[in-house]
Amino acid sequence: MNKEEIKKQIEILRKEKDAIILAHYYTNPEIQDIADYIGDSLGLSQMAAKTDSSVILFCGVKFMAETASIISPGKKVLIPDITAGCSLAESIVRENILEWKRKNPDGIVVSYINTTAEVKALTDICCTSANAAKIISSIPEDAKILFGPDKNLAKYIQTMTGRDIDIWDGDCCVHEDFTKEKVESLIAANPGAEILIHPESSCSHDPSILEREDVFVLSTSGMVKRAGDSPAQSFIIVTEPGVLYQMNLMYPGKKFIPVDIGNKCYQMRKVTLEKVLWSLINEEFEISIPESIRAKAYPSIERMFHINSL
Ligand code: SF4
Repeated sequence: MNKEEIKKQIEILRKEKDAIILAHYYTNPEIQDIADYIGDSLGLSQMAAKTDSSVILFCGVKFMAETASIISPGKKVLIPDITAGCSLAESIVRENILEWKRKNPDGIVVSYINTTAEVKALTDICCTSANAAKIISSIPEDAKILFGPDKNLAKYIQTMTGRDIDIWDGDCCVHEDFTKEKVESLIAANPGAEILIHPESSCSHDPSILEREDVFVLSTSGMVKRAGDSPAQSFIIVTEPGVLYQMNLMYPGKKFIPVDIGNKCYQMRKVTLEKVLWSLINEEFEISIPESIRAKAYPSIERMFHINSL
């Protein structure tokens, strides 16, 4: 079957099975092309919460599909490749949280959404890069806070809020490689370009980067919005280069410069059209979270939605 035939079959099965296809900005362009909704972690979780479809086919990595399942327990959540993991989510496990809680019984655990369901079940409030500063600022000043697992996002939030935070030493293997040196050399080569940086990047909290007026530290969806709203005509995009596909489609007159076009999230890109079709035909791989974990994990996401809406 060629790609066009696969797409037609996906379209037929999507309707037959009442499925919505959600895709992250970092997936392959062919996946973004067939998605009903493309977003970042916050947008995708909000969409999973409000969809009426019976089946959510999640094109992304496993923790994202788990999040959709936590939010929408009555729905069938499918992921086309069950091995699509995340170096960041895997850097912290429930025992790490339990150990911190033993030492800090009154402390507040704030977990980035890039965590497993088991970690979310021990988390007080989840956050995404779009709302992390707002979540931290909502916590009483005298509270002890653990922020995990992304150390770069934590350091950026610490800089922005001035809060004292216990920082878990995890990182995204893709964003860790977006260094200050690489970004500075692109700035020198592209005068006039605006610089949009994802806070997971290792350069996101560097004082010499942050003091620049042409730098904006934003979530992935925040970057897409800024690219449209800004009067600038060229942008240095400091995140996984998959987002450039949507930016180029949405703003064809503007120029988007990736830091490193080869530095991709190969976990997100495990999802292919063939696997999406297989997933719809076989209704596999279904995400199944024990209710005892799901029920404990849900309030951490619900608190995030609530604070995010204030
Ligand atoms: S880009 Fe990084 S944080 Fe996102 S899924 Fe890939 S490894 Fe995880």
